[in-house]
Amino acid sequence: MFDNLSGRLEGIVKKIRGKGRLTEADVDEVMKEIRTALLEADVNVTVVRSVCNRIREHAIGATRSQALDPGQQVVKAVNDELTRALGGETLSITYASKPPTVVLMAGLQGSGKTTNSAKLASWFKAQGRQPLLVGADLQRPAAVEQLRTLGAQIDVPVYSDPEDPVLTAHQGLEEAKRLGRDVLIVDTAGRLSIDAEMMEQVRLISGAVDPDYTFLVIDAMTGQDAVQTAEAFHETLKIDGVIMSKMDGDARGGAALSVKEVIGRPIAFASTGEKLNEFEQFHPDRMAGRILGMGDMLTLIEQAEAAFEQDQAEQAAAKMMEGQFTLDDFLDQMQQIKKMGSLGNLMSMMPGIPKELKNADIDDDSLKPIEAIIRSMTMEERTFPKVINGSRRARIAAGSGTQVGDVNRLVKQFDEMQKMMKKMGVMGGGMGKKGKKG
Ligand code: GDP
Repeated sequence: MFDNLSGRLEGIVKKIRGKGRLTEADVDEVMKEIRTALLEADVNVTVVRSVCNRIREHAIGATRSQALDPGQQVVKAVNDELTRALGGETLSITYASKPPTVVLMAGLQGSGKTTNSAKLASWFKAQGRQPLLVGADLQRPAAVEQLRTLGAQIDVPVYSDPEDPVLTAHQGLEEAKRLGRDVLIVDTAGRLSIDAEMMEQVRLISGAVDPDYTFLVIDAMTGQDAVQTAEAFHETLKIDGVIMSKMDGDARGGAALSVKEVIGRPIAFASTGEKLNEFEQFHPDRMAGRILGMGDMLTLIEQAEAAFEQDQAEQAAAKMMEGQFTLDDFLDQMQQIKKMGSLGNLMSMMPGIPKELKNADIDDDSLKPIEAIIRSMTMEERTFPKVINGSRRARIAAGSGTQVGDVNRLVKQFDEMQKMMKKMGVMGGGMGKKGKKG
């Protein structure tokens, strides 16, 4: 997702970053490119207009203020506006003072409601909660069975009654109280498109359980249609947030960038694959960073923390930020990374990773030559790859059963990645602290 938009914006950012001065003509040209990129990503036209107006305002300000680095200021404006369009703030969950906290899941059939009900339950579990799932989707054959299977995988009980969806929801709530479960997630029925009967049913279920949160599951692949669906649901139910599913697909991203403006509610969670752990809280600022090719170190660090030893994760993160991350650290992390879900998704969060690598279908096997190359290096070479001269290269290639070109490529890519991380670290550290210049 966002690949095309990201590619175009990265190109624009690269161009303006290097400019010492920006003229109004430069700004006009940049704005034209940004507008086209957003429209091509299927972003709602109203959103495109307001985003562009605000970026332009900042950009013109930067050209006039004799700012030291106007390009950087424009990049910041683009980043801020993408963040705003993606919802601004991260939606944080407030738990009901009288448990259970009730979550209602709504959406069209096939949007990923059932899968994401289970993913959300798993997320709550990771927060130390004890969820109960309720299968109130009696419309789609086998939806309850699917929920039971998923529930068993994550060790979360599932309640359902084949009689009636509204009754099921109501009894599910009673069941949660009886069992002392503190979060209730109600999966409801969807249809292929919105119809009156479905809306009435979900309205009745909502009335029966009085949810603290109503989440609308939207399939990112449906683009602008998704935004219309959201509007229709929002008219009947008070939507609190969106769960954007299938963000691993090649959707252009328009839905994600438009939904906040259209219904005034943010994306709360993002689903990035079919596996139950491919689900994360949605952080608009981090996503904006990813789109602009600046990586998303924070999410990466969080995912690492879930898989790594705490100390090790903190050390690795600190080293990355300071640009002291060596090839040996890289090898170490590679072993852990295998525990952290899809490699393609991880790559998309790292700054400075070349496009081809991000888009490649990366599996564990493709890491083997990289592992072998690093293992054939001495500790000195892993720490200071600059010492690797021609004869060392030949030795490493022979030792790892690869070609000299492979060794070259790894060293070069690692060098670029390190430079980029260093830059990010300096930017991240410098932003909030006045006087600390990069
Ligand atoms: P429901 O009809 O809304 O309950 O939809 P399901 O939960 O059954 O999901 C429909 C299909 O989408 C299933 O095959 C899921 O595995 C798949 N799916 C759900 N979320 C994701 C996602 O984030 N990425 C991908 N690739 N597939 C997903």
